Amino acid sequence: MFCYHCQEAKKNLVCDKTGICGKKENVSSLQDMLMFSLKGLAFYCTQAEEFGLVSDKTNQFMAKALFSMVTNVNFSADDFVSLIDEAIRRRNSIRQQFLAAYQQKHEQAFSQTLTEEAEWQYDAVDEQAFTDKGKNVGVEKDNEILDPDIHALQETLLYAVKGLGSLAVHNAEMNIESAEQYHFMHQALSFTLNKDNTIEAVLTLVVQSGKLGLSAMALLEKANSKKFGAPAPTKVHLDTLENPGILVSGHDLRDIDDLLAQTAGTGIDVYTHGEAISAHAYPAFKKYFNLVANYGGAWQAQKTEFPKFNGPILVTTNSIQQPKKTYQDRLFSTGMVAWTDVPHIADRKPGQRKDFSEIIDIAKQSEVPTTLTEGAYQIGFGLAALTELTTKIADAIKAEKIKRIIVLTGTDGRHKERKYYTELAQALPENTLIITAGDVKYRFLTHDFGQIEGIPRLLDAGQSSDFSVIISFLQELQQSLALEALNDLPVSFNISWYEQKTILMMLALFSLGFKNMRVGPTLPPFFTPAILELLTDKYALKGIDTVESDIESMLAGS
Ligand code: SF4
Repeated sequence: MFCYHCQEAKKNLVCDKTGICGKKENVSSLQDMLMFSLKGLAFYCTQAEEFGLVSDKTNQFMAKALFSMVTNVNFSADDFVSLIDEAIRRRNSIRQQFLAAYQQKHEQAFSQTLTEEAEWQYDAVDEQAFTDKGKNVGVEKDNEILDPDIHALQETLLYAVKGLGSLAVHNAEMNIESAEQYHFMHQALSFTLNKDNTIEAVLTLVVQSGKLGLSAMALLEKANSKKFGAPAPTKVHLDTLENPGILVSGHDLRDIDDLLAQTAGTGIDVYTHGEAISAHAYPAFKKYFNLVANYGGAWQAQKTEFPKFNGPILVTTNSIQQPKKTYQDRLFSTGMVAWTDVPHIADRKPGQRKDFSEIIDIAKQSEVPTTLTEGAYQIGFGLAALTELTTKIADAIKAEKIKRIIVLTGTDGRHKERKYYTELAQALPENTLIITAGDVKYRFLTHDFGQIEGIPRLLDAGQSSDFSVIISFLQELQQSLALEALNDLPVSFNISWYEQKTILMMLALFSLGFKNMRVGPTLPPFFTPAILELLTDKYALKGIDTVESDIESMLAGS
């Protein structure tokens, strides 16, 4: 096993026996095998695009398969066996059609030298055979073949494409399909089949993945706001009420919509967990009086918080952990999330809502949740709310009431070093504004930051994918202040990375030419010293230091 694609890789190097996340060796090999299979499929998709032979279903399949490999999404060997099988079958089908179309157009056979990914066939759909093959085609193998620096950047590209896959799945759920993004997935995956790529060529694609990640996030934000209304500043209660409840975790607003529609008037309350807290800010959900509160904090708190909830728990997107016995029998997954033996709620049928009746029946028999805390958080500074504040914030900057905006975004995690984000937020001087997105906010959401000229000092823009909201707001602020470049804004980015979607935040900033961003609590383990040096030279990328020294540097604009 060799996996180092998240911030919790063992000793910030690599998980080599079993994953800190709970990923077993066989699942790691199956994921390597799935990536191998997808590269072969992508190779033919790239070739077949000009003949219009790549179907929407194949594109959607590829996005789902990529999403399944994002950290903490899917731990089911059965699912990976099916995905590998489908990838190979789809590759074979496109290959056959492409070769015929090519022959017809060029009056000769396609003669490009093929890599193993484009040719490999299985004898039978067999978990052990796929696992064994995965052991010989994964990231560790590439490490032996490729130049280490090129390999490091190519892995960055692959992780970015996994993040893009997850966004494409969310977008497809909202009926948004982007041909450009699917094309990029094909291009990026098949590009990694070349053994003679240069650093410059890989970096170009890595930066492009950041640009596309940002546009995928913006598409999702637009679709969510169109369907559920523009998020508005909202106080979210943290207390529990007298009814039994269902706890929903993850990011999927359509799942939350379906769940609320089916629980309204049943005497079952719905609570949010993790990034699902953002649902409270959408007008479409405010009409449901049974969406009562947020319960608990970020994803990694589930093992201590879920047992106390007493009712069923639905995990809609990533961030599932190995369930404890205390709540295993009332945990459900849906979408691309899976854990062996955890019941899975099937996808919605066309034109219908997802069927949550099984969960609702369990909730009816459950005890009310045990109260964890009381009070309220303020959330809901989506694009419309931030836009409304732009002139006020610009005026406060001009009047030197706001010295700097600190963007503290990203994902939370288990490392104790992450207390840095709590201490940093609390130690920032009162003339700084903090904008956040993602679940790192749970590190400082309880703190009372006060206001500057009537502007709340802490502005929560939403989920990780609402990073695009922050960028759009900053572009508006740049215009309002008549500044030539985004880098001229008094803004510092400090990104708490965890998995492949937060990698996209960093790459999005590269694509915009932003300098001086901090990434922590540790730098990605897959970066080699030479790649770090390259990114430091080009983008002034930094790791985190002490709270005091980082605040001093950020206030000085570095
Ligand atoms: Fe380790 Fe992260 Fe890979 Fe899990 S996803 S095996 S924690 S590096």
